[in-house]
Amino acid sequence: MDQLLESQEKERESVGRRSLSARVRQIPPSGIRKFFDLISSMEDVVSLGVGEPDFVTPWHIREAAIYSLEKGYTMYTSNYGLLELREAVANDLRRRFQVEYDPTCEILITVGVSEGLDLALRAIVDPGDEVIIPDPGYVSYQPCTILAGGAVVPVPTRLEDGFKVRASEIEARVSSRTKAILIGYPNNPTGAILSHSELQAILDVAQRHGLLVISDEIYERLVYDGKHTCFASLPGARDRTILLGGFSKSYAMTGWRIGWAAAPAEIIEGMMKIHQYSALCPPIMGQKAALEALRNGEQQSLAMTREYDRRRRVIVKGLNEIGLPTFEPKGAFYAFPSIATTGLSDDEFAERLLREERVAVVPGTAFGEGGRGHVRCSYATSLNNIQEALRRMRRFVERVRA
Ligand code: PLP
Repeated sequence: MDQLLESQEKERESVGRRSLSARVRQIPPSGIRKFFDLISSMEDVVSLGVGEPDFVTPWHIREAAIYSLEKGYTMYTSNYGLLELREAVANDLRRRFQVEYDPTCEILITVGVSEGLDLALRAIVDPGDEVIIPDPGYVSYQPCTILAGGAVVPVPTRLEDGFKVRASEIEARVSSRTKAILIGYPNNPTGAILSHSELQAILDVAQRHGLLVISDEIYERLVYDGKHTCFASLPGARDRTILLGGFSKSYAMTGWRIGWAAAPAEIIEGMMKIHQYSALCPPIMGQKAALEALRNGEQQSLAMTREYDRRRRVIVKGLNEIGLPTFEPKGAFYAFPSIATTGLSDDEFAERLLREERVAVVPGTAFGEGGRGHVRCSYATSLNNIQEALRRMRRFVERVRA
């Protein structure tokens, strides 16, 4: 009987393996998921792991969704998303960055920036096309490129440069197969931002070589030092840019799954061809809530940003005092200390810190090879948690060094 069960199990496994496409098999298991599986089996963990606001969505935004349900808004919207919401996104981009998009055909409401990113890559990448991506970068960039049939060309960024990608290093990697440059600033996991002139230098490279730029600006409202430059607002950039933005981080709306893409009409039309057959549209209640966020959410968003800024100062100071050199993040809500002096790899550091001191951080290599020797600590958690995590990390580092 046991043998029968065993052979059935083997057969199932082998069918499963054979069924997966080569593209899917190419994707390594997520470095982050492994840790979250571990954390969920433990008690008393102080988590600096998740990249998610600890705030609840502001009440007036939740109320807008509740009201929409009371009014019976439970149906599909246009595949582009609610026109009112597209108009609000276009107005916001015009008001803050002086960049113009036609809400009827140049803006698409997506299921978070996650879907926007996937659509953008699938709409433009042919098999073997190369996408140049700063490394480390957000965990989805590389897998989504591969799943779209593309090849990832990473550009390492370094602590000494404040983790800014150099346009010259992008240009050195351009080939006849390069299709696009994919940037995400403010950056997850490093907190780096790029100045107007640094973005201009990337645009110059894109123009010289006829490339598209996908610019993931999900953290654009979370900038502590300096001012955010919207890539599409640079003169001549709009027509070669797919701009991605969303609500998850700045309005504490991760669970609502609403984002948007803005791009020239032909590109949005291409993205729409995928979106209409896969997602159709994001939930209408979420879209109603996002509309309220854009119309009346600025003050709460600013208040949350001020609170992250307070936490940022505490965590950066604390990590440096422990002897883990930490670049001062300029945006987003992550600190990215170097753990090289402990002699542990980033994987070992994160795993031992979790097991021995019950503090969750994410190994830097989860964000690409360029993250080696670092860990990501999210400060989208309470000051108390941050202080407790720092106490435990100090104890851990002292023990490892002893
Ligand atoms: N882009 C970056 C850089 C992120 O950090 C995240 C989430 O962590 C996303 C996109 C996904 O955002 P959304 O919740 O809008 O899908």
